[in-house]
Amino acid sequence: MLEYKIYINGEFRNSSDGGRVDAVNPYDRSVFAKLAKSTIADTKSAIQAARNAFDSGIWSDKSREERSAIIKQIADKIKENSALLQELEIKESGSTFKKSKDDMFLTYRAASTFAKLALVDLSEVLPISKEGVSKNIVVHEPVGVVSAIIPWNFPLQMAMWKIAPALAAGCTIVLKPAPETSVSALELAKIIDSTDLPKGVVNIITGDAEVGEEMVTNPLVDKVAFTGSTEIGKKVMSLASGSMKNVTLELGGKSAGIILDDADLDLAVDGSAYAGYFHNGQCCVAGSRLILTNKIYDEVVERLKNKLAKMKIGNPMDKDTDIGPLVSDKQQKRVLEYIEIGKKEGARLVYGGGVPKGFETGCYVEPTLFADVDNDMRIAQEEIFGPVLAVIKAKDENDAIRIANASNFGLAGGVWSKDNDKAMKVARKLKAGTVWVNEWHLLSDSAPFGGYKQSGVGRELGLEGLKAYTETKHIHVDEILDRKKKFWYNVTVPQD
Ligand code: NAD
Repeated sequence: MLEYKIYINGEFRNSSDGGRVDAVNPYDRSVFAKLAKSTIADTKSAIQAARNAFDSGIWSDKSREERSAIIKQIADKIKENSALLQELEIKESGSTFKKSKDDMFLTYRAASTFAKLALVDLSEVLPISKEGVSKNIVVHEPVGVVSAIIPWNFPLQMAMWKIAPALAAGCTIVLKPAPETSVSALELAKIIDSTDLPKGVVNIITGDAEVGEEMVTNPLVDKVAFTGSTEIGKKVMSLASGSMKNVTLELGGKSAGIILDDADLDLAVDGSAYAGYFHNGQCCVAGSRLILTNKIYDEVVERLKNKLAKMKIGNPMDKDTDIGPLVSDKQQKRVLEYIEIGKKEGARLVYGGGVPKGFETGCYVEPTLFADVDNDMRIAQEEIFGPVLAVIKAKDENDAIRIANASNFGLAGGVWSKDNDKAMKVARKLKAGTVWVNEWHLLSDSAPFGGYKQSGVGRELGLEGLKAYTETKHIHVDEILDRKKKFWYNVTVPQD
């Protein structure tokens, strides 16, 4: 049985009350590790360690080059340990071998990208004054102590999307992974501990809502970087407002793909299946709605059905498995409930809809396809976060855009067409933070990522994502040293 401790101030500790929690493998519901379960006292202690490390300047006063070199060291060690990290991620989350292999690379890539971005001098001199009058300089300073709270779907990648930009900006951080996927985060703590990063700069604790709420409200914290559901995001925003913390929220989605009539259907059908079913649909940017016009509707639905029949459901450790288990019993129950809701709402169940035969010992759900979905149905409006695709009929291209935008979410979207100009026009009209043309799921660490509407506040990744971990300061250096030439001479100060 594997055992893990929480990581505070450069030390691996048991929880202050000795509490432990099981890590469960959703493939067969077996317990494969025991973890220390953080208390509120542990949470406060981790925040204090991050506060002390920040205030000491041990990290924020380092040069950009020094910070970059240590972030690169973390990236390289992740690469060295990727086989172990991958195995743990598969066990804790049910991620397939193929998906988790990509995750390892993408975790490494995020750290490497921010090692490079750490070198960028974000300061600028503004052209707003004449020579000899004043210099106006804008600098970006680290925001301070960051509370980072992440979900379970891409455990290590999500961790690195918070840790790497926070470090690049000069911040210190307390990270709380989701309870379902804390094992890989605590293994990551060991990797970070083996680098030259000073003690207390990164702290990794466990726990759920109670620990999260302490992280969000604690007065020693300057910024909250949250990724998770819109429901919890709203709570986090409201709690963080008590001390007016800097907040970024990366939340849920109900992203729509539109296949235009002229699309290459071989590409668009495979791509839409990838959009909707990759990682069992447990992706914030999953293409969980697919909008088609009458002309191609029946053909696309038929092709999708055939595609799903060929997907290999299996053990996530097997290299050729396409569909593994969902992350937990809770998630399996949620998805099966939504499938029942879809049936009751009158959507046509074309494929799947239950637990696959032979996989009852794990948290599996068949890839499920609903056609004739009305965009007002709950299965078209609410984030299911499972392998359930809702196909919706549109009258024409404009109607497809209207339907795509008729959602409280606005995280991502996509359009499939052979005509790039036409696709670009549609892409510009979609109210979403990321839009793909003839692609899905590809994100760049150099491009900003985030949501419109209730899919979030702020952006991660790229220079915009780095700036999100800074405060912006304007420094006005006045070059007029003769008081009689000051604009305020004779305004308020009595003159002699
Ligand atoms: P969740 O909102 O239930 O939990 C997310 C995190 O918040 C977990 O670490 C959880 O322990 C913590 N938490 C729960 N209650 C809290 C509270 N009251 N205060 C503070 N923290 C609290 O989400 P989940 O089920 O872990 O993940 C799935 C969700 O994450 C989906 O909605 C998905 O769309 C979203 N997500 C968004 C992005 C993005 O970048 N936009 C990326 C991945 C996942």
